[in-house]
Amino acid sequence: MQLKIYNSLSGEKEVFKPILEGNIGMYVCGPTVYSNVHLGNVRTFLSFDFIYRSLQFLGYKVRYVRNITDAGHLTDDGDINNDRFIKQSRLEKLEPMEIVQKYTVDFHEVLKKFNLLPPTIEPTATGHIIEQLELAKDLIEKGFAYESNGSVYFDVLEYNARGLNYGELSRRNIEELFANTRDLDGQFEKKNPQDFALWKKASPEHIMKWPSPWGEGFPGWHLECTAMSTKYLGDQFDIHGGGMDLKFPHHECEIAQGKACNGVEPVKYWMHANMLTMNGQRMSKTTGNFILPVQLMSGNNDFFEKAFHPSVLRFCFLQAHYRSVLDISNDAMLASEKGFNRLMEAVKILNTQVPTEGVETSSFDYKNWKEKVLEALSDDFNSPILISHLFEAVKFISASKLGKESISTNDYEDLKQFLNAIVFDVLGLETIEESNNDKLDQTLQVLIDLRNQARKSKNWELSDQIRDQLLEKGIELKDGREGTTYQLL
Ligand code: AMP
Ligand code: ZN
Repeated sequence: MQLKIYNSLSGEKEVFKPILEGNIGMYVCGPTVYSNVHLGNVRTFLSFDFIYRSLQFLGYKVRYVRNITDAGHLTDDGDINNDRFIKQSRLEKLEPMEIVQKYTVDFHEVLKKFNLLPPTIEPTATGHIIEQLELAKDLIEKGFAYESNGSVYFDVLEYNARGLNYGELSRRNIEELFANTRDLDGQFEKKNPQDFALWKKASPEHIMKWPSPWGEGFPGWHLECTAMSTKYLGDQFDIHGGGMDLKFPHHECEIAQGKACNGVEPVKYWMHANMLTMNGQRMSKTTGNFILPVQLMSGNNDFFEKAFHPSVLRFCFLQAHYRSVLDISNDAMLASEKGFNRLMEAVKILNTQVPTEGVETSSFDYKNWKEKVLEALSDDFNSPILISHLFEAVKFISASKLGKESISTNDYEDLKQFLNAIVFDVLGLETIEESNNDKLDQTLQVLIDLRNQARKSKNWELSDQIRDQLLEKGIELKDGREGTTYQLL
């Protein structure tokens, strides 16, 4: 079956042909580690985790590079004294590299909870300063960049004058860009407002800075991805991914840097994952419209009526195609939880059921069904269609448990193996094993809720009774500003 991928560069679904038969080089822009990742960030990384898993399942050997941006990321106002890491380090009274460490650890822990596989290489921007300096020097030598007041800028007009096409990914033309840019950053240093920084001069107070031929400074954000992707995957590689919001200017600039340096399109297939929205608006740190993974898992938030297991969120995300906008809601999560439980129950039945001997024909056409599942996967990783096919099998398996249907004995083992592979290896779902601790937690929560109700209706006798009897059993309830918690004595 041919794998088709929607290529943002051509705007079309294309038959995928790797540069080197059987092998794939894939680069995905990683997080800027100056704060906790929110569920929106998780969606993008999870989309590419699903794609990575699918490529491996389809038989490819994948070198998967996802970077960590740990330097030189300016805030939106472009003020060089407002590097995000430095701003956050002032706020938290930590060294910038402590900020980097703290949020890198958080990022890894969160992705592990959602069962994302680690990339095969995870390079950091600060670990590749030399490579970025080399690129900037090369671009100056080739006439595509210029130094100005200790900073180095990419010359967009020169790039276009040489017949290269700035704006090819985001389909913006240069005249339009010139008319619409109001970029105050470096306005007195740049030849043109569209020129973007490859290297920025650091002020004396700036903490994260490195020596360069142009004085002390720090690298531009776009340059780090070109430096790390080409170092590990070559001047031209198969797949580059990231969130839709990175298409312009970040990915457009990466294309320009790559083509100017190496004379080839750096990437064969550009893939962009769409946004997670909440209340119809993009989930984002800056607007405050966000939920953190820990809030979802603990239920400690005003948005969801209960806590959800990370695998349920994973399932919810995969019920939408990676190129569609997904609006998260309490109802969507409840529906996903139902679907997730049905799917997992069917897998459990299939894995434990003893097949009926001697059934030769069955109304479930396994081979045809398997084709359809693989077709969905190969059609630009269409997870919602794939999941809808899975539910055809779920229906059948549930009916077989009731003795209403039988699975052909010949297909039984194949179905079991294939369904397990799709559910656990490709979709990356995990069964929810309830530990005794979880059950104790839930039971105590019921008692805490009952006690709160009693207190609300001023039934002090009942509320004290609940508290005292629990204390007798060695469980102390503590009332605090965040609500009631318990402690085992
Ligand atoms: P950042 O750390 O800001 O560079 O973001 C890390 C990744 O999360 C990028 O690929 C962004 O495109 C992605 N991202 C940010 N907000 C959202 C959102 N609301 N939905 C999906 N992806 C997002
Ligand atoms: Zn990037």
